[in-house]
Amino acid sequence: MGFRPHRPSDENLERRCNPKPCLNHLASGQSSSDPLGDRPVWDSIWKANVPQKIRVFGWRTATNTLAVLENVHRRISTTRPTCSICGSAEEDTHHALVECTLAKALRHGMRSVWTLPPESEFCKSGKEWFLIMITNAAPEMRVKLMFLFWRVWHHRNNIVHGDGKASVSVSIPFLQNYLSSFKDANVTLGSSKGKGLLYPSQSLVSSHVDVSKWLPPPAGAVSVCVDAGWDAVSKRAGSGAVIRDDQGSIIRSSWKFHPYCESAEEAEAKACLEGLHQLLHTNRIPGILETDCQRVVQTVTSENFDRSHHHGVFI
Ligand SMILES: [Zn+2]
Repeated sequence: MGFRPHRPSDENLERRCNPKPCLNHLASGQSSSDPLGDRPVWDSIWKANVPQKIRVFGWRTATNTLAVLENVHRRISTTRPTCSICGSAEEDTHHALVECTLAKALRHGMRSVWTLPPESEFCKSGKEWFLIMITNAAPEMRVKLMFLFWRVWHHRNNIVHGDGKASVSVSIPFLQNYLSSFKDANVTLGSSKGKGLLYPSQSLVSSHVDVSKWLPPPAGAVSVCVDAGWDAVSKRAGSGAVIRDDQGSIIRSSWKFHPYCESAEEAEAKACLEGLHQLLHTNRIPGILETDCQRVVQTVTSENFDRSHHHGVFI
């Protein structure tokens, strides 16, 4: 089975959307139904430069194993497959990640800060729309698309099953910062950033490392790279943390929503705290905490009492 329309409607969509016909792997007659196969096309997911949890999400999307209502309805016929957010269509993977009002809102919001493919390339080009889109995209764009779709899915779950507090205004800076910090951890940290050696079971050491490029931590140590995005109007923030070992391999990553932060510095401080919590989960010390907020580094490393509002985060 190759990339062929499975239904008349798919065929019509395929003609209308006319996706770039460069999925030679699919067109050559190989099946994408075997996710463990050696097809190079799966490398576009498993070798994408994104956190492992986003690769897993991508694989679930490509294999149509996300818990969208259409899939739930197939197993439990008494459930309704109608989208529980917009109510305008059946909730399949493409609807949830592309067509639904929530997905469109976040995608359009991200266009203000990221360059994304034109809307015509988000059309449903068949059951393998996701794999086709990801594989056709240039590596840099592939990373953005996987981050974006992953965040849409998280956002959706937060509304349907969580506290419903996730918002587009928070997701935009969060995605920006998450991708940025992830890249920093991979390639370059940029201009000099504050760093302090961190021993969770001991104390923060006030060493300050001036670097122009990200360097792996000393043998046996781990790097905890954190960052945060803060919305000055809503006072909400999102933070992310990426933990890497001395080989540069990512061993843990996370994000967190903060419903109220008084300032960007407080958001950065909470990002540091979240990084520390994640570090404790790895049971790996020592760790090097990396943040681009010099003010937070000063608070953490200072022996004097700091009266700023974010000081309380570390007490
Ligand atoms: Zn919907």
